[in-house]
Amino acid sequence: MKNIERVLITKEGRKFYAKDLSEDLHTQYGFIKGSELKKSKEGDLLKTNTNKELFVFSPSFIDFYRRIKRDAQIIPLKDIGLIMAETGINKESRVLDAGSGSGALACFIAGIAKEVITYEIREDFIEIVKSNIEFLGLKNIKVKNKNIYEEADDKNMDVVILDLPEPWSALESCSKALKPGGFLVSYSPSVPQVADFVNALRKNGSFVYLKTSEITEREWEVEDRKVRPKSKGIGHSGFLSFARKVQ
Ligand code: SAH
Repeated sequence: MKNIERVLITKEGRKFYAKDLSEDLHTQYGFIKGSELKKSKEGDLLKTNTNKELFVFSPSFIDFYRRIKRDAQIIPLKDIGLIMAETGINKESRVLDAGSGSGALACFIAGIAKEVITYEIREDFIEIVKSNIEFLGLKNIKVKNKNIYEEADDKNMDVVILDLPEPWSALESCSKALKPGGFLVSYSPSVPQVADFVNALRKNGSFVYLKTSEITEREWEVEDRKVRPKSKGIGHSGFLSFARKVQ
């Protein structure tokens, strides 16, 4: 059920999505005929009726990903980057994620890992996750209506990732779900959550604590010799804590 046919990018980096090639694409720079989009080749430079130039591409995974439905606050890409780098998730990995929310993290990881299982307690969110999985055409995610504070019936996982209000309440389940040496990651927006999570980890004999980090991404404006950080504020997202399961 993919509904992006082409991605168009202006020379300034503005993006437009063409959803239906039987229709013309209208932008604030004028329109491009659907028939012209249809016969265009990857990377072609097309012109609108007002002569604005746009490059045309076929959508890739990240173009679809940026268009998924979002309800719960999704984890930003900058933070997904650190999770992937610290845990080394790859095509052999089995990953458990809780809670699913909109399924953004689960879907991103499913594009890389062997298998993703995601737990969510709210039926309404489960519906959103399922529609996002279908939209992205992913075949290796299972969504389960489960409360990870109570149980995890999936075993031998390589990585467990928590994005929950009380991650410390999930430690017993994570301990059962992870294989020895497997990674536990917790993403929390506030400092007391980090303190309670890491203190609970240290008391619990099943894990060795590695580190807590925050990623700050600062986008820059590059316009001829006007090269400077963008003036819009740097928003806070969350802290990432990492641990490994011991025997
Ligand atoms: N990482 C997700 C966002 C998660 S939002 C994304 O990128 O899209 C947090 C979700 O956790 C909410 O949807 C909430 O309903 C769910 N949740 C809260 N407690 C839970 C629990 N004990 N077990 C499973 N899911 C839970």
